[in-house]
Amino acid sequence: MSRGYASKGVSDSWWYARRASKARLREARAEAARAEAARAREEELAEADTKRGYKWPEWVEQTTYTRCRPSPSVFDESDVTALLTREMRGFMDRVSAQPPDPWFHRQSEKLVLAALMVHAEDDDGVRRPQFVFGLNAEVSLPAGGSFCAERSAIVAARARFPGISRADFAGIAVLQVPLSSGGIATNPLRPCGACSEWLLKLGEQIPRF
Ligand SMILES: [Zn+2]
Repeated sequence: MSRGYASKGVSDSWWYARRASKARLREARAEAARAEAARAREEELAEADTKRGYKWPEWVEQTTYTRCRPSPSVFDESDVTALLTREMRGFMDRVSAQPPDPWFHRQSEKLVLAALMVHAEDDDGVRRPQFVFGLNAEVSLPAGGSFCAERSAIVAARARFPGISRADFAGIAVLQVPLSSGGIATNPLRPCGACSEWLLKLGEQIPRF
C-alpha cells in the first residue's frame, strides 16, 4: 500500500527510508552538538588551569579495537568461529576445574589457552574437524624457553596427527583466563611477534585461517 504518494509513484519503502535517513541526520547533528559542547567545556577547564598555573601532563592515547558479533541462536556446524568458541568454553571449564601449577607461568603470570581446529583423520580413518589445545608455559630461564599457547597447540596437533599439512589448519582461538581466583585477564589478546609470524605463514596456505 502506498498511501498518498501512490499518485506520484513513490513507494512506501522509499518514504520510510527517507524518514529513517532524516532521523539519522537529526541524531548525527545532535551528536555533533554534544561533541562540540564537550570540547568547549574542556577548553574552558584548560584555560582555567592555565590561569591557575597548572601544567597538564602529557597524554598518551590508548585505543583498543574489538570485533564483536552476535551469537546465532542456531548452532552452525560449518562455522569455524562457532565451533572454536564452543570448544574453548569446554577447555576453559576443564582448566578451571584443574588449575595449572603457577610455576609454569612465573614469567608473565598469565594463563593463556588456545583451541586449534584442524581437519584430520580419526582412528576410524574418517576425515573430520579435530580440536587440539595448547597452554602457555613460561619457565623463565636465562636461555629463554617460553612457549605460547598458540604455538603449543600447533605443535600438539603435529604430534597427534603426524601427517598433517598446513592446508589442514582451519582456525585458532586464544583466550587469557585468570591464573588464580580473583585474578584478572585481558582479552582480546594479540599474538606475540613469533606467533604472529607462525600464524601468517600458516595463513599463506589457507587464507581463511
Ligand atoms: Zn606467542
